[in-house]
Amino acid sequence: MSSKPPSSESRRPTVYQEAMEVFHRAADLIGLDRRVRMELEEPDYEHIFYVTVKLHTRLAPLTVDTDKFKDLAESELLPDGLEPLLDGSFVFKRRALIGANVAMRDGVVRLKGKGLYKVVPGRPERFKAYRVQHNQARGPYKGGIRFHQDVSLDLFKVLAAEMTWKTAIADVPFGGGKGGIKVDPRSLSSEELEALTLRYMYRLKPLIGPDLDIPAPDVGTDGTIMGLLLRQYTDGERERHRLRGVVTGKDTRIGGSEGRVKATGQGLAYCIQEWFAERGATPAGSTFILQGFGNVGSNAAEILSGLGSKLLAVNDAGGTIYSPTGIDVNDLIAYVYDNPLNLRRTVAGYPKAQQIGKQDLWNVEADIAIPAALGGEITGPVAERMKVKLVAEGANGPTTPEGDRVLEKRKIEMIPDIIGNAGGVTVSYYEWIQNKRMEHWSETEVNGRLEQAIKSNYRIIRDIARNTPRRTATHNSTRYCIGKEVDMRTAAMVLALKRIEAHYQLEGFSQ
Ligand code: NAD
Repeated sequence: MSSKPPSSESRRPTVYQEAMEVFHRAADLIGLDRRVRMELEEPDYEHIFYVTVKLHTRLAPLTVDTDKFKDLAESELLPDGLEPLLDGSFVFKRRALIGANVAMRDGVVRLKGKGLYKVVPGRPERFKAYRVQHNQARGPYKGGIRFHQDVSLDLFKVLAAEMTWKTAIADVPFGGGKGGIKVDPRSLSSEELEALTLRYMYRLKPLIGPDLDIPAPDVGTDGTIMGLLLRQYTDGERERHRLRGVVTGKDTRIGGSEGRVKATGQGLAYCIQEWFAERGATPAGSTFILQGFGNVGSNAAEILSGLGSKLLAVNDAGGTIYSPTGIDVNDLIAYVYDNPLNLRRTVAGYPKAQQIGKQDLWNVEADIAIPAALGGEITGPVAERMKVKLVAEGANGPTTPEGDRVLEKRKIEMIPDIIGNAGGVTVSYYEWIQNKRMEHWSETEVNGRLEQAIKSNYRIIRDIARNTPRRTATHNSTRYCIGKEVDMRTAAMVLALKRIEAHYQLEGFSQ
Protein backbone atom coordinates (compact mmCIF):
# COMPACT_ATOMS: atom_id res chain seq x y z
CA MET A 1 0.00 0.00 0.00
CA SER A 2 1.49 3.34 -0.94
CA SER A 3 0.79 6.40 1.13
CA LYS A 4 0.53 9.81 -0.51
CA PRO A 5 3.20 12.33 0.47
CA PRO A 6 1.76 15.11 2.61
CA SER A 7 0.55 18.01 0.51
CA SER A 8 2.31 21.33 0.85
CA GLU A 9 -0.90 22.52 2.56
CA SER A 10 -0.51 19.98 5.38
CA ARG A 11 3.18 20.85 5.75
CA ARG A 12 2.40 24.52 6.34
CA PRO A 13 3.25 25.44 9.95
CA THR A 14 0.30 25.93 12.26
CA VAL A 15 -0.33 29.35 13.76
CA TYR A 16 1.14 28.00 16.98
CA GLN A 17 4.28 26.64 15.34
CA GLU A 18 4.73 29.95 13.54
CA ALA A 19 4.29 31.92 16.76
CA MET A 20 6.81 29.68 18.54
CA GLU A 21 9.57 30.51 16.01
CA VAL A 22 10.87 33.33 18.15
CA PHE A 23 10.74 31.11 21.24
CA HIS A 24 12.98 28.53 19.55
CA ARG A 25 15.32 31.21 18.23
CA ALA A 26 15.79 32.74 21.68
CA ALA A 27 15.99 29.31 23.37
CA ASP A 28 18.82 28.33 20.98
CA LEU A 29 20.63 31.61 21.56
CA ILE A 30 20.69 31.29 25.33
CA GLY A 31 21.07 27.49 25.38
CA LEU A 32 17.83 27.12 27.33
CA ASP A 33 17.82 24.04 29.58
CA ARG A 34 16.31 21.18 27.53
CA ARG A 35 13.72 20.20 30.11
CA VAL A 36 12.63 23.81 30.62
CA ARG A 37 12.29 24.06 26.85
CA MET A 38 10.06 21.00 26.81
CA GLU A 39 7.93 22.39 29.64
CA LEU A 40 7.40 25.59 27.68
CA GLU A 41 6.94 24.11 24.21
CA GLU A 42 3.39 22.95 24.89
CA PRO A 43 0.76 24.25 27.34
CA ASP A 44 0.24 22.66 30.76
CA TYR A 45 -3.50 22.19 30.08
CA GLU A 46 -5.82 22.66 27.09
CA HIS A 47 -9.46 22.76 28.15
CA ILE A 48 -12.18 22.55 25.51
CA PHE A 49 -15.79 22.48 26.62
CA TYR A 50 -19.24 23.40 25.41
CA VAL A 51 -21.66 26.01 26.65
CA THR A 52 -25.36 25.98 25.82
CA VAL A 53 -27.67 28.92 26.01
CA LYS A 54 -31.27 29.60 25.05
CA LEU A 55 -31.58 32.12 22.23
CA HIS A 56 -34.66 34.31 22.17
CA THR A 57 -37.12 34.62 19.34
CA ARG A 58 -35.89 36.85 16.52
CA LEU A 59 -37.54 38.86 13.80
CA ALA A 60 -35.39 38.32 10.71
CA PRO A 61 -35.80 40.47 7.58
CA LEU A 62 -37.91 38.65 4.98
CA THR A 63 -36.25 38.68 1.57
CA VAL A 64 -38.18 36.03 -0.41
CA ASP A 65 -41.88 35.75 -1.31
CA THR A 66 -42.48 39.30 -0.15
CA ASP A 67 -45.30 39.72 -2.72
CA LYS A 68 -47.42 37.27 -0.74
CA PHE A 69 -47.57 39.80 2.08
CA LYS A 70 -48.26 42.95 0.05
CA ASP A 71 -51.54 43.51 1.85
CA LEU A 72 -50.30 42.65 5.36
CA ALA A 73 -51.13 45.50 7.72
CA GLU A 74 -48.44 47.21 9.74
CA SER A 75 -47.78 45.99 13.28
CA GLU A 76 -46.90 48.32 16.09
CA LEU A 77 -44.60 46.85 18.73
CA LEU A 78 -43.00 48.64 21.68
CA PRO A 79 -39.55 49.60 20.24
CA ASP A 80 -37.99 49.02 23.65
CA GLY A 81 -38.84 45.32 23.28
CA LEU A 82 -36.92 44.91 20.00
CA GLU A 83 -33.13 44.77 20.26
CA PRO A 84 -31.41 45.42 16.91
CA LEU A 85 -28.60 43.07 15.87
CA LEU A 86 -25.83 43.58 13.37
CA ASP A 87 -27.39 41.29 10.73
CA GLY A 88 -30.50 43.47 10.50
CA SER A 89 -32.71 41.24 12.66
CA PHE A 90 -34.30 42.08 16.00
CA VAL A 91 -34.31 40.08 19.21
CA PHE A 92 -37.91 39.98 20.32
CA LYS A 93 -38.64 40.54 24.00
CA ARG A 94 -42.03 39.93 25.52
CA ARG A 95 -42.38 43.53 26.61
CA ALA A 96 -42.62 44.43 22.89
CA LEU A 97 -46.23 43.26 23.17
CA ILE A 98 -47.22 45.80 25.81
CA GLY A 99 -49.85 47.94 24.11
CA ALA A 100 -49.00 46.27 20.79
CA ASN A 101 -51.14 46.11 17.71
CA VAL A 102 -50.06 43.02 15.77
CA ALA A 103 -51.09 41.61 12.40
CA MET A 104 -49.33 38.34 11.58
CA ARG A 105 -49.73 35.90 8.71
CA ASP A 106 -47.71 32.66 8.29
CA GLY A 107 -45.31 33.91 10.93
CA VAL A 108 -44.61 37.19 9.10
CA VAL A 109 -45.16 40.71 10.40
CA ARG A 110 -44.71 44.13 8.81
CA LEU A 111 -42.95 46.42 11.27
CA LYS A 112 -43.97 50.03 11.03
CA GLY A 113 -41.45 51.92 8.90
CA LYS A 114 -39.11 48.92 8.63
CA GLY A 115 -40.60 46.27 6.32
CA LEU A 116 -41.40 42.56 6.48
CA TYR A 117 -39.95 40.27 9.12
CA LYS A 118 -40.22 36.53 9.69
CA VAL A 119 -40.55 35.24 13.24
CA VAL A 120 -37.70 32.81 14.03
CA PRO A 121 -38.63 30.95 17.22
CA GLY A 122 -36.13 30.92 20.09
CA ARG A 123 -34.00 27.78 20.47
CA PRO A 124 -31.08 26.50 22.51
CA GLU A 125 -27.67 26.80 20.89
CA ARG A 126 -24.29 25.25 21.69
CA PHE A 127 -21.01 27.19 21.63
CA LYS A 128 -17.46 25.88 21.77
CA ALA A 129 -15.44 27.29 24.66
CA TYR A 130 -11.78 27.16 25.62
CA ARG A 131 -9.27 27.83 28.37
CA VAL A 132 -5.62 27.13 27.68
CA GLN A 133 -3.28 27.21 30.69
CA HIS A 134 0.20 27.49 29.28
CA ASN A 135 2.64 27.76 32.17
CA GLN A 136 2.62 28.65 35.85
CA ALA A 137 6.30 28.53 36.82
CA ARG A 138 6.20 32.21 37.86
CA GLY A 139 2.69 32.37 39.32
CA PRO A 140 -1.01 31.72 38.63
CA TYR A 141 -2.08 31.45 34.98
CA LYS A 142 -3.17 34.86 33.70
CA GLY A 143 -4.77 35.92 30.46
CA GLY A 144 -7.78 37.33 28.67
CA ILE A 145 -11.15 35.98 27.62
CA ARG A 146 -11.92 36.45 23.92
CA PHE A 147 -15.42 36.25 22.44
CA HIS A 148 -14.90 36.04 18.68
CA GLN A 149 -16.11 33.92 15.78
CA ASP A 150 -12.59 33.13 14.50
CA VAL A 151 -11.00 31.49 17.53
CA SER A 152 -9.48 28.01 17.72
CA LEU A 153 -7.45 25.87 20.08
CA ASP A 154 -4.35 26.70 18.07
CA LEU A 155 -4.98 30.42 18.43
CA PHE A 156 -5.60 30.20 22.18
CA LYS A 157 -2.36 28.21 22.53
CA VAL A 158 -0.54 31.08 20.82
CA LEU A 159 -2.19 33.70 23.01
CA ALA A 160 -1.69 31.72 26.24
CA ALA A 161 2.02 31.22 25.48
CA GLU A 162 2.30 34.95 24.70
CA MET A 163 0.96 35.64 28.19
CA THR A 164 3.67 33.46 29.72
CA TRP A 165 6.31 35.56 27.96
CA LYS A 166 4.53 38.83 28.68
CA THR A 167 4.05 38.28 32.40
CA ALA A 168 7.76 37.39 32.63
CA ILE A 169 8.77 40.50 30.69
CA ALA A 170 6.50 42.73 32.77
CA ASP A 171 8.01 40.95 35.79
CA VAL A 172 4.63 40.30 37.40
CA PRO A 173 4.24 37.04 39.35
CA PHE A 174 1.95 35.28 36.90
CA GLY A 175 2.11 32.62 34.22
CA GLY A 176 0.16 32.50 30.96
CA GLY A 177 -3.36 31.49 30.01
CA LYS A 178 -6.06 32.49 27.52
CA GLY A 179 -9.52 31.38 26.60
CA GLY A 180 -12.93 32.34 25.39
CA ILE A 181 -15.87 31.35 23.27
CA LYS A 182 -16.28 30.88 19.54
CA VAL A 183 -19.07 33.39 19.06
CA ASP A 184 -19.69 36.73 17.43
CA PRO A 185 -21.00 38.62 20.47
CA ARG A 186 -22.71 41.11 18.17
CA SER A 187 -25.02 38.31 17.00
CA LEU A 188 -26.51 38.01 20.50
CA SER A 189 -28.82 40.22 22.53
CA SER A 190 -27.45 41.70 25.75
CA GLU A 191 -29.47 39.16 27.79
CA GLU A 192 -28.20 36.24 25.69
CA LEU A 193 -24.64 37.46 26.05
CA GLU A 194 -25.12 37.66 29.80
CA ALA A 195 -26.53 34.11 29.90
CA LEU A 196 -23.65 32.81 27.76
CA THR A 197 -21.07 34.54 29.96
CA LEU A 198 -22.60 33.13 33.15
CA ARG A 199 -22.75 29.62 31.71
CA TYR A 200 -19.13 29.90 30.56
CA MET A 201 -18.06 30.71 34.12
CA TYR A 202 -20.27 27.91 35.46
CA ARG A 203 -18.16 25.48 33.41
CA LEU A 204 -14.88 27.31 34.03
CA LYS A 205 -15.17 27.62 37.79
CA PRO A 206 -13.51 24.29 38.71
CA LEU A 207 -10.52 25.22 36.55
CA ILE A 208 -9.68 28.74 37.77
CA GLY A 209 -9.38 30.84 40.92
CA PRO A 210 -7.70 33.98 42.30
CA ASP A 211 -4.51 32.04 43.05
CA LEU A 212 -4.79 29.58 40.18
CA ASP A 213 -5.90 31.24 36.95
CA ILE A 214 -7.09 34.83 36.56
CA PRO A 215 -8.97 35.90 33.41
CA ALA A 216 -9.21 39.48 32.07
CA PRO A 217 -10.86 41.23 29.11
CA ASP A 218 -9.70 40.68 25.54
CA VAL A 219 -11.30 41.09 22.11
CA GLY A 220 -15.09 41.07 22.43
CA THR A 221 -15.16 41.27 26.24
CA ASP A 222 -15.00 44.20 28.66
CA GLY A 223 -15.48 45.30 32.26
CA THR A 224 -19.18 44.44 32.14
CA ILE A 225 -18.42 40.85 31.14
CA MET A 226 -15.78 40.70 33.90
CA GLY A 227 -18.43 41.81 36.43
CA LEU A 228 -20.70 38.96 35.31
CA LEU A 229 -17.86 36.45 35.53
CA LEU A 230 -17.06 37.70 39.03
CA ARG A 231 -20.67 37.36 40.14
CA GLN A 232 -21.00 33.84 38.79
CA TYR A 233 -17.70 32.74 40.34
CA THR A 234 -18.48 34.18 43.77
CA ASP A 235 -22.23 33.42 43.86
CA GLY A 236 -23.12 31.56 47.06
CA GLU A 237 -19.53 31.58 48.37
CA ARG A 238 -19.18 32.30 52.07
CA GLU A 239 -16.29 34.75 51.70
CA ARG A 240 -17.15 36.27 48.34
CA HIS A 241 -15.19 39.46 48.88
CA ARG A 242 -11.97 37.47 49.29
CA LEU A 243 -12.39 36.13 45.77
CA ARG A 244 -12.54 39.46 43.93
CA GLY A 245 -9.13 38.88 42.39
CA VAL A 246 -10.46 35.96 40.33
CA VAL A 247 -10.85 38.28 37.34
CA THR A 248 -9.18 41.59 36.54
CA GLY A 249 -10.34 44.41 34.31
CA LYS A 250 -13.43 44.93 36.49
CA ASP A 251 -15.29 48.20 36.88
CA THR A 252 -13.53 50.42 39.43
CA ARG A 253 -16.69 50.38 41.59
CA ILE A 254 -16.46 46.62 42.13
CA GLY A 255 -12.76 46.21 42.77
CA GLY A 256 -11.29 47.23 39.43
CA SER A 257 -8.15 49.35 39.35
CA GLU A 258 -8.02 52.96 38.34
CA GLY A 259 -6.14 53.19 35.04
CA ARG A 260 -6.92 49.58 33.96
CA VAL A 261 -9.15 50.49 31.01
CA LYS A 262 -6.45 52.67 29.51
CA ALA A 263 -3.51 50.59 30.73
CA THR A 264 -2.63 48.74 27.54
CA GLY A 265 -2.75 51.89 25.43
CA GLN A 266 -0.91 53.76 28.17
CA GLY A 267 1.83 51.13 28.34
CA LEU A 268 2.28 51.31 24.57
CA ALA A 269 2.52 55.10 24.78
CA TYR A 270 5.24 54.78 27.50
CA CYS A 271 7.22 52.48 25.16
CA ILE A 272 6.85 54.95 22.30
CA GLN A 273 7.93 57.83 24.58
CA GLU A 274 10.99 55.80 25.56
CA TRP A 275 11.75 55.10 21.89
CA PHE A 276 11.72 58.85 21.22
CA ALA A 277 13.69 59.58 24.42
CA GLU A 278 16.55 57.36 23.16
CA ARG A 279 16.76 59.76 20.23
CA GLY A 280 16.66 62.81 22.48
CA ALA A 281 13.12 63.58 21.28
CA THR A 282 9.47 63.32 22.30
CA PRO A 283 6.40 62.18 20.35
CA ALA A 284 5.36 65.85 19.87
CA GLY A 285 5.18 66.69 16.17
CA SER A 286 5.27 63.03 15.05
CA THR A 287 2.58 61.23 13.06
CA PHE A 288 1.00 57.77 13.36
CA ILE A 289 -1.36 55.36 11.62
CA LEU A 290 -3.51 52.90 13.50
CA GLN A 291 -5.27 49.59 12.94
CA GLY A 292 -8.05 48.86 15.44
CA PHE A 293 -10.00 51.51 17.31
CA GLY A 294 -11.12 49.36 20.24
CA ASN A 295 -9.83 49.50 23.79
CA VAL A 296 -6.13 49.44 22.93
CA GLY A 297 -6.23 51.48 19.73
CA SER A 298 -8.52 54.29 20.87
CA ASN A 299 -6.73 54.74 24.21
CA ALA A 300 -3.26 54.67 22.66
CA ALA A 301 -4.47 57.23 20.10
CA GLU A 302 -5.96 59.48 22.77
CA ILE A 303 -2.78 59.43 24.87
CA LEU A 304 -0.44 59.91 21.90
CA SER A 305 -2.48 62.79 20.53
CA GLY A 306 -2.32 64.31 24.03
CA LEU A 307 1.48 64.09 23.68
CA GLY A 308 1.31 66.04 20.41
CA SER A 309 1.43 63.17 17.90
CA LYS A 310 -0.93 63.38 14.93
CA LEU A 311 -3.23 60.51 13.84
CA LEU A 312 -3.33 60.29 10.02
CA ALA A 313 -5.31 57.11 9.28
CA VAL A 314 -7.31 54.40 11.03
CA ASN A 315 -8.52 51.02 9.85
CA ASP A 316 -10.96 48.86 11.77
CA ALA A 317 -13.33 45.97 11.04
CA GLY A 318 -15.81 48.38 9.40
CA GLY A 319 -13.58 50.51 7.19
CA THR A 320 -10.60 52.84 6.85
CA ILE A 321 -10.33 56.62 7.16
CA TYR A 322 -7.54 59.02 6.28
CA SER A 323 -6.83 62.69 6.71
CA PRO A 324 -3.49 64.20 5.64
CA THR A 325 -4.00 67.07 8.07
CA GLY A 326 -4.71 64.79 11.04
CA ILE A 327 -7.78 63.30 12.70
CA ASP A 328 -9.15 64.79 15.92
CA VAL A 329 -8.98 61.72 18.17
CA ASN A 330 -11.50 62.91 20.76
CA ASP A 331 -13.99 63.74 18.04
CA LEU A 332 -13.47 60.30 16.48
CA ILE A 333 -13.97 58.63 19.88
CA ALA A 334 -17.29 60.48 20.23
CA TYR A 335 -18.28 59.37 16.69
CA VAL A 336 -17.47 55.71 17.42
CA TYR A 337 -18.54 55.35 21.04
CA ASP A 338 -21.13 58.01 21.88
CA ASN A 339 -23.34 57.63 18.83
CA PRO A 340 -26.08 55.02 19.48
CA LEU A 341 -26.65 54.67 15.73
CA ASN A 342 -23.06 53.51 15.23
CA LEU A 343 -24.00 49.95 16.14
CA ARG A 344 -20.75 48.44 14.86
CA ARG A 345 -18.62 50.93 16.80
CA THR A 346 -16.67 51.63 13.66
CA VAL A 347 -14.67 54.56 12.30
CA ALA A 348 -16.25 53.91 8.87
CA GLY A 349 -18.29 56.84 7.62
CA TYR A 350 -16.52 59.38 9.86
CA PRO A 351 -17.43 62.55 8.01
CA LYS A 352 -14.30 64.60 8.71
CA ALA A 353 -11.91 62.22 6.90
CA GLN A 354 -11.59 60.48 3.54
CA GLN A 355 -12.76 56.86 3.27
CA ILE A 356 -9.98 54.71 1.81
CA GLY A 357 -9.45 50.97 1.21
CA LYS A 358 -8.24 48.69 4.01
CA GLN A 359 -4.92 47.95 2.36
CA ASP A 360 -4.31 51.66 1.70
CA LEU A 361 -3.73 52.15 5.43
CA TRP A 362 -0.26 50.66 5.16
CA ASN A 363 0.68 53.02 2.28
CA VAL A 364 0.23 56.12 4.44
CA GLU A 365 3.56 57.71 5.31
CA ALA A 366 3.96 58.33 9.06
CA ASP A 367 6.52 57.99 11.84
CA ILE A 368 4.72 55.19 13.68
CA ALA A 369 2.35 52.37 12.73
CA ILE A 370 0.29 50.92 15.56
CA PRO A 371 -1.42 47.62 14.84
CA ALA A 372 -4.05 47.25 17.59
CA ALA A 373 -6.59 44.82 16.10
CA LEU A 374 -6.07 41.14 15.36
CA GLY A 375 -3.04 38.97 14.64
CA GLY A 376 -1.22 38.28 11.35
CA GLU A 377 -1.99 41.63 9.67
CA ILE A 378 1.56 42.81 8.89
CA THR A 379 2.60 40.16 6.40
CA GLY A 380 5.71 40.24 4.22
CA PRO A 381 3.99 42.12 1.36
CA VAL A 382 2.43 44.62 3.81
CA ALA A 383 5.82 45.19 5.46
CA GLU A 384 7.32 45.86 2.01
CA ARG A 385 4.85 48.69 1.48
CA MET A 386 4.99 50.38 4.86
CA LYS A 387 6.35 53.93 5.01
CA VAL A 388 7.02 54.26 8.74
CA LYS A 389 10.07 54.36 11.01
CA LEU A 390 8.59 52.36 13.88
CA VAL A 391 6.00 49.60 14.30
CA ALA A 392 4.64 49.69 17.86
CA GLU A 393 2.59 46.54 18.40
CA GLY A 394 -0.55 46.96 20.51
CA ALA A 395 -2.27 43.80 19.21
CA ASN A 396 -1.04 40.33 19.99
CA GLY A 397 0.98 38.84 17.14
CA PRO A 398 0.12 41.41 14.45
CA THR A 399 3.35 40.81 12.49
CA THR A 400 4.02 37.47 10.80
CA PRO A 401 7.55 36.00 10.90
CA GLU A 402 7.94 36.98 7.24
CA GLY A 403 6.71 40.48 8.06
CA ASP A 404 9.35 40.62 10.79
CA ARG A 405 12.10 39.65 8.38
CA VAL A 406 11.03 42.33 5.89
CA LEU A 407 10.82 45.05 8.58
CA GLU A 408 14.28 44.06 9.81
CA LYS A 409 15.67 44.15 6.26
CA ARG A 410 14.09 47.59 5.69
CA LYS A 411 15.46 48.84 9.03
CA ILE A 412 11.99 49.67 10.31
CA GLU A 413 12.23 49.52 14.09
CA MET A 414 9.95 47.45 16.30
CA ILE A 415 8.37 47.61 19.73
CA PRO A 416 7.22 43.98 20.00
CA ASP A 417 3.81 43.10 21.42
CA ILE A 418 5.08 41.33 24.52
CA ILE A 419 6.41 44.61 25.89
CA GLY A 420 4.25 46.97 23.77
CA ASN A 421 0.95 45.73 25.20
CA ALA A 422 2.18 44.55 28.60
CA GLY A 423 0.56 47.56 30.29
CA GLY A 424 -2.76 45.72 30.55
CA VAL A 425 -1.42 42.76 32.46
CA THR A 426 0.78 44.99 34.61
CA VAL A 427 -2.21 46.99 35.84
CA SER A 428 -4.16 43.73 36.13
CA TYR A 429 -1.48 42.72 38.61
CA TYR A 430 -1.99 45.99 40.50
CA GLU A 431 -5.74 45.28 40.54
CA TRP A 432 -5.09 41.78 41.88
CA ILE A 433 -2.84 43.15 44.68
CA GLN A 434 -5.42 45.82 45.55
CA ASN A 435 -8.11 43.12 45.76
CA LYS A 436 -5.94 40.97 48.01
CA ARG A 437 -5.14 43.92 50.27
CA MET A 438 -8.63 45.45 50.06
CA GLU A 439 -7.07 48.69 48.85
CA HIS A 440 -7.89 51.22 46.17
CA TRP A 441 -5.01 53.14 44.59
CA SER A 442 -5.31 56.45 42.77
CA GLU A 443 -4.80 56.67 39.00
CA THR A 444 -1.67 58.74 39.61
CA GLU A 445 -0.22 55.98 41.77
CA VAL A 446 -1.14 53.29 39.23
CA ASN A 447 0.32 55.21 36.29
CA GLY A 448 3.46 56.09 38.24
CA ARG A 449 4.12 52.41 38.93
CA LEU A 450 3.18 51.43 35.38
CA GLU A 451 5.52 53.98 33.81
CA GLN A 452 8.41 52.83 35.95
CA ALA A 453 7.69 49.14 35.24
CA ILE A 454 7.22 49.45 31.47
CA LYS A 455 10.11 51.82 30.88
CA SER A 456 12.62 49.85 32.97
CA ASN A 457 11.70 46.55 31.29
CA TYR A 458 11.77 48.26 27.88
CA ARG A 459 15.31 49.50 28.68
CA ILE A 460 16.43 46.00 29.62
CA ILE A 461 15.11 44.65 26.29
CA ARG A 462 16.80 47.47 24.37
CA ASP A 463 20.10 46.72 26.15
CA ILE A 464 19.79 43.01 25.28
CA ALA A 465 19.09 43.96 21.64
CA ARG A 466 22.14 46.24 21.48
CA ASN A 467 24.27 44.11 23.75
CA THR A 468 24.96 47.00 26.12
CA PRO A 469 24.76 45.50 29.63
CA ARG A 470 24.16 48.27 32.17
CA ARG A 471 23.19 48.86 35.74
CA THR A 472 21.50 52.24 36.21
CA ALA A 473 19.23 53.76 38.85
CA THR A 474 16.19 52.45 36.93
CA HIS A 475 17.25 49.13 35.44
CA ASN A 476 19.83 46.37 35.45
CA SER A 477 20.41 44.46 32.22
CA THR A 478 23.73 42.85 33.16
CA ARG A 479 22.16 39.46 33.87
CA TYR A 480 20.32 39.32 30.57
CA CYS A 481 22.60 40.50 27.73
CA ILE A 482 23.91 37.56 25.68
CA GLY A 483 27.18 38.84 24.22
CA LYS A 484 25.79 39.75 20.81
CA GLU A 485 23.20 42.00 19.22
CA VAL A 486 19.73 40.66 18.39
CA ASP A 487 16.46 42.11 17.11
CA MET A 488 13.99 43.57 19.65
CA ARG A 489 11.53 40.67 19.45
CA THR A 490 14.24 38.10 20.12
CA ALA A 491 15.63 40.32 22.90
CA ALA A 492 12.22 40.44 24.59
CA MET A 493 11.98 36.65 24.39
CA VAL A 494 15.48 36.28 25.82
CA LEU A 495 14.40 38.33 28.82
CA ALA A 496 11.24 36.23 29.27
CA LEU A 497 13.05 32.90 29.00
CA LYS A 498 15.85 33.90 31.36
CA ARG A 499 13.31 35.01 33.98
CA ILE A 500 11.25 31.81 33.61
CA GLU A 501 14.31 29.54 33.52
CA ALA A 502 15.47 31.01 36.83
CA HIS A 503 12.39 29.53 38.52
CA TYR A 504 13.13 26.05 37.21
CA GLN A 505 16.84 26.40 38.01
CA LEU A 506 16.42 27.77 41.52
CA GLU A 507 13.24 25.96 42.59
CA GLY A 508 13.83 22.77 40.59
CA PHE A 509 11.15 20.50 39.13
CA SER A 510 8.40 18.71 41.02
CA GLN A 511 8.74 15.06 40.02
P1 NAD B 1 -11.48 45.49 20.99
O1 NAD B 1 -12.46 44.40 20.74
O2 NAD B 1 -11.79 46.55 21.96
O3 NAD B 1 -11.13 46.20 19.60
C1 NAD B 1 -10.71 45.49 18.48
C2 NAD B 1 -10.59 46.47 17.31
O4 NAD B 1 -10.06 45.75 16.18
C3 NAD B 1 -11.91 47.08 16.85
O5 NAD B 1 -11.70 48.43 16.48
C4 NAD B 1 -12.25 46.26 15.60
O6 NAD B 1 -13.06 46.97 14.68
C5 NAD B 1 -10.88 46.01 15.04
N1 NAD B 1 -10.86 44.85 14.13
C6 NAD B 1 -11.42 43.64 14.32
N2 NAD B 1 -11.24 42.88 13.23
C7 NAD B 1 -10.54 43.62 12.34
C8 NAD B 1 -10.04 43.40 11.04
N3 NAD B 1 -10.23 42.24 10.43
N4 NAD B 1 -9.38 44.41 10.43
C9 NAD B 1 -9.19 45.59 11.04
N5 NAD B 1 -9.63 45.86 12.28
C10 NAD B 1 -10.30 44.89 12.92
O7 NAD B 1 -10.11 44.73 21.36
P2 NAD B 1 -8.89 45.30 22.21
O8 NAD B 1 -9.08 44.95 23.63
O9 NAD B 1 -8.59 46.71 21.82
O10 NAD B 1 -7.70 44.35 21.68
C11 NAD B 1 -7.02 44.63 20.45
C12 NAD B 1 -5.77 43.79 20.39
O11 NAD B 1 -4.95 44.07 21.52
C13 NAD B 1 -5.98 42.28 20.41
O12 NAD B 1 -4.98 41.67 19.62
C14 NAD B 1 -5.77 41.92 21.87
O13 NAD B 1 -5.37 40.57 22.04
C15 NAD B 1 -4.66 42.88 22.22
N6 NAD B 1 -4.54 43.17 23.66
C16 NAD B 1 -5.56 43.75 24.36
C17 NAD B 1 -5.37 44.06 25.69
C18 NAD B 1 -6.43 44.77 26.49
O14 NAD B 1 -6.12 45.14 27.63
N7 NAD B 1 -7.61 45.03 25.96
C19 NAD B 1 -4.17 43.74 26.33
C20 NAD B 1 -3.16 43.14 25.58
C21 NAD B 1 -3.35 42.87 24.24
